[in-house]
Amino acid sequence: MAKATAHTFPGGEVDEPGLVPYPPDVEARYRAAGLWSGRSLPAELMSAASAHAERTALITPEGSWTYQELFGEAQRFAAGLLESTSLWPGDSMMFQMGNVAETVVSYLGCLLAGVRPVCTLPQHGVREIGVLAEHIGARGLILQADFGRGQLPENARALVASGVIKDVVVARGRTSAFVGYEELLASGAAATPEALPYHRRDPRGIAVFQLSGGTTGLPKIAPRLHEEYAYNARVWARTLGWGNGTVVLYPLPIMHNAGIALALQPALLSGATLALAPSADAGSVLDLIEATRPRVIPLVPPALAIRLLDHPRGRTTDLSSISDFIVGGQKLAEDVAERLRDELGIAVRQKFGMAEGMFLLTPAHAGERVRHHTVGEPLSPADEIRILRPGQDTEVHPGEIGELCVRGPYTIRGYYRAERHNAQAFTADGFYRTGDLARRHLIDGLTCYSIDGRIKDVINRGVEKIHADEVEELIMRHPAISNAALVAMPDKVLGERGCAYLVLEPGEQPLTVRSLGEFLLSQGLAKYKLPERVEVVAGLPLSNVGKVSKKSLREDIEAKLLAEDAAGLLDE
Ligand code: AMP
Repeated sequence: MAKATAHTFPGGEVDEPGLVPYPPDVEARYRAAGLWSGRSLPAELMSAASAHAERTALITPEGSWTYQELFGEAQRFAAGLLESTSLWPGDSMMFQMGNVAETVVSYLGCLLAGVRPVCTLPQHGVREIGVLAEHIGARGLILQADFGRGQLPENARALVASGVIKDVVVARGRTSAFVGYEELLASGAAATPEALPYHRRDPRGIAVFQLSGGTTGLPKIAPRLHEEYAYNARVWARTLGWGNGTVVLYPLPIMHNAGIALALQPALLSGATLALAPSADAGSVLDLIEATRPRVIPLVPPALAIRLLDHPRGRTTDLSSISDFIVGGQKLAEDVAERLRDELGIAVRQKFGMAEGMFLLTPAHAGERVRHHTVGEPLSPADEIRILRPGQDTEVHPGEIGELCVRGPYTIRGYYRAERHNAQAFTADGFYRTGDLARRHLIDGLTCYSIDGRIKDVINRGVEKIHADEVEELIMRHPAISNAALVAMPDKVLGERGCAYLVLEPGEQPLTVRSLGEFLLSQGLAKYKLPERVEVVAGLPLSNVGKVSKKSLREDIEAKLLAEDAAGLLDE
């Protein structure tokens, strides 16, 4: 493993030319304040594992694992990974795994092997995985063979053929050309914790890669560092009072940043139990609530809250174990908060956060003005927030809306290998410009924040983000299309869906949602990013600075939907 070394740390090295580090005085301050531990993330996890060995660490509908069992498997995975593949500590591994126990084992196993998990999703297509792997320099891929329609092994073959991916591990199925998960565990059976390289990981180095932007153009990858990522988990667990006996149910893809930072890691660092729901389907979430009696659901997207409210078993299931039902990822409508209170007896809390770091949470005992209308306050006393005039460095007047800009002990200082993005996305003094619009409030003596829209060009579809420029660039590859814009259209359940406005080349036939979707899938776009409505127009409206006016397009589609709703009502 011969690599350029920027600076060394006893027993390890930080050697990342594409990493924007925290300034040394800031690191020192975070350590002196006891926020950062000076230890690697897997070292912290292993300490928790030995402290809680006999307790239940993980529950899925397929079984349960004590800390000893879970970490034992993770150690075997780590040793097997280094034994049976060409991966080395410092390499990276793409993940295409759903919410199954093997995902937790292999995530922990990678950390113990010093291999960095890249938190991609099984929904990502070949092109997306290829682009991200190339950007990061990831050579490994682990996939779940029985996920969805079982197409991931075939996708992996294409990635190997293209030369991007070298080593593939297959869980829950056999593919002769690739290493099987069980085989890997067997080859690591003699592993001892002492022999694993996590002891030598530099706590200031990259532990995990989280995703932010799209996959056309320069990717936005959030490098999460050992100490800050562990702190993120600890401060969340501490704020919510987790410990032995706390059951934390997580219903969304576990590899999302929220899954790792607000469920998996804080649960395992605090001796709590993670109950992993196989999907965010309301029925399976209710089943798991009944079976595991969770105290916390740390992230309920508004769409799931609505599905639970509307599910026939929503009102008959015993929800009394849940004291922290935390809605986030998207704006929560007031009527949904009230329905949760009135129909299910739930005093909702809200959270706001992002792969880049900072989380805000409404305090448990705050009144409804705070819990229903704001996302609360930041988790850490060292978190800093500025509300800036968009694109500028000056703060708005008190109470005005501006861009939420954040800095702190678990917020990244820059995207990985992305100087061009970093020049725009961070202020000179290291505040991350979130692209979200926010306001500061003082309610009942509490300084808290509301999210009041966004300036970034993203569609938030039931908390999955769709970056408009990525989809537009692929649409523009279609020979019949001369111009395109993707905008959010409101949706009662998912919050937003994508609507594509298309300008056709002369004489071309209009495309449909289906024909456009088939084309985009053939270009390697993940299905969840496909436009769900197509509007063919003669030209795209321009703003007074000559850019496509997405505001006009959003207003247009909103007006059309309202008119269609009204017509639907008249028809009834
Ligand atoms: P991600 O990095 O995928 O977690 O997405 C982060 C983005 O999701 C934020 O920058 C916001 O645009 C959006 N978001 C997260 N939580 C909320 C919330 N409670 N209300 C509104 N938007 C949110």
